[in-house]
Amino acid sequence: MHQSFGAALIDGKGFAARLLARLNHDVQLLEKETGTVPGLAVVLVGEDPASTIYVASKRRQTVAAGMRSFEHRLPTTVTESELLALIASLNENPSVHGILVQLPLPAHLSAGVVIDAIDPDKDVDGFHVANAGRLATGQEGLVPCTPLGCLMLLKEQLLDLAGLNAVVIGKSNIVGKPMAQLLMAENCTVTVAHSRTRDLAQLCRMADILVVAAGRPGLVRGDWIKPGATVIDVGINRVEETAGRPVIVGDVAIEEAGHARAITPVPGGVGPMTIACLLANTVTAFRRQQQIGS
Ligand code: NAD
Repeated sequence: MHQSFGAALIDGKGFAARLLARLNHDVQLLEKETGTVPGLAVVLVGEDPASTIYVASKRRQTVAAGMRSFEHRLPTTVTESELLALIASLNENPSVHGILVQLPLPAHLSAGVVIDAIDPDKDVDGFHVANAGRLATGQEGLVPCTPLGCLMLLKEQLLDLAGLNAVVIGKSNIVGKPMAQLLMAENCTVTVAHSRTRDLAQLCRMADILVVAAGRPGLVRGDWIKPGATVIDVGINRVEETAGRPVIVGDVAIEEAGHARAITPVPGGVGPMTIACLLANTVTAFRRQQQIGS
């Protein structure tokens, strides 16, 4: 980064490492108290290379945090009823406290049907309609991992978010919508923007908090960012570098964002928080199933 770059880089990687260390400590205490540890079941259908890498990484970190990992790999040809039967058995299994079905699923399987078959209290991705409803109505539930991680970073930076103007770019069910709900719950004034929003640049200039989850490299330019704003870049975009080597970039032209108060780099910002929050959700689900307070 250029020497005159004034924004703090938000160290999501370091935050996630500290969170995982704390979870590992909590798991040891929970094991002493209950004689058992949280268990996370991950279901992978097919052999999508990116999904296979994510699942391996989830398994590694689950074990590193002292929890049990159950991995179920199913062939691409699996039928919906076979997959639903597996989920039903995981719902009933007392050693499994969290269930995650890796997305995307092959085209013949409906993600909506499959997710809705998961016991909402074991839905550690927070995608079940019951958990979306709980979040929207301020009830205790399980919150999607990526926006939960973004909120943790924001609270560490700003402590109290009440009264701040927040703009969220993107309205997906897994990032944008739950992010907006979480910011509303913190008493921010929230605007959700998307691909049909008019004059996005002007809207962004009002934001004390700007969360960008569009999947468009370099969408947000420096002059869209209010001086002193806190910027969370959720985007993960693989772009070809001139030398032909692919690089990962976010949705914000970070080299133009030096006048922000703080910004998450890509990689090393939001990304590492997602798996850490998945494990945090698994510990939360375990506590609730064992009726242990936090
Ligand atoms: P999505 O494709 O489901 O949704 C994208 C949203 O952005 C849509 O609401 C769309 O209207 C909006 N959008 C697209 N182009 C836009 C534009 N030009 N202007 C304004 N809005 C625009 O994507 P998603 O699943 O929400 O993910 C968004 C990004 O975040 C992707 O890059 C994805 O890879 C990344 N992501 C990162 C993590 C992580 O762990 N860091 C997790 C999930 C998603």
